[in-house]
Amino acid sequence: MCRHLAYLGPPRSPAGPLLEAPHSLLRQSYAPADMRGGGSVNADGFGLGWYAGGEPVRYRRPNPLWTDSALPALAASLHSTAFLAAVRSATVGMPVAESACAPFEGGRWLFSHNGLVRGWPGSMAALAGRLPVTELLTLEATTDSALLWALLRARLDAGVPAVKAVAELVADVEAAAPGSRLNLLLTDGEQLVATAWTHALSVLTADGAVLIASEPFDDHPGWTPVPDRHLVHARGGDLTVAPIEVETP
Ligand code: GLN
Repeated sequence: MCRHLAYLGPPRSPAGPLLEAPHSLLRQSYAPADMRGGGSVNADGFGLGWYAGGEPVRYRRPNPLWTDSALPALAASLHSTAFLAAVRSATVGMPVAESACAPFEGGRWLFSHNGLVRGWPGSMAALAGRLPVTELLTLEATTDSALLWALLRARLDAGVPAVKAVAELVADVEAAAPGSRLNLLLTDGEQLVATAWTHALSVLTADGAVLIASEPFDDHPGWTPVPDRHLVHARGGDLTVAPIEVETP
């Protein structure tokens, strides 16, 4: 399963969590500590998204993170109040391409999915059918993650608050495709929303900042595991962790 992380706080470079920390995303790309559901490395591409002038900017590549010679200088040169980064281990049958690498983008949003949808793609037929056909025909990639992003984006564009939109999406997908792994990560540069849904997630608040990561990237004692089936919301110095309600049949 892919690994992802996000930051919200005073301006900082992503270089530490991404490349330099003892268990950075770079290390997690070839030696992750907690892989579940298949795969042993995260070598099918990576992505970094950050904010410049309030707008998201992305750098994504379909290659292993450790092969990229441009990223160290890029990461060191930028400072952002929010960023989101991911390394990918493609689910069997899904394409390896830049377009399939998180973060996905739309408006001010950046999004990542760590996991897989069970029974893909048939299990998602009914949910996908709620989207306009033009949306389906222009999906950025033929992956579960890209479809999850289109479904989430439709809710956000309809004005549903981010926390509600994410929780509803998880509940809908769990109903349609039980047992899916749905660790989602979303930011608009001012808030972070993340879910722990059958996969690892940890959170750290320190120095007026919030970090959320699949795996802690250093040995800071403040890292706290997020309980399974919970949603994390960080905004303006507040952090809440709450269970995701799903209807049991
Ligand atoms: N299923 C998604 C993909 O193939 C995410 C993969 C993962 O988390 N390993 O892109």
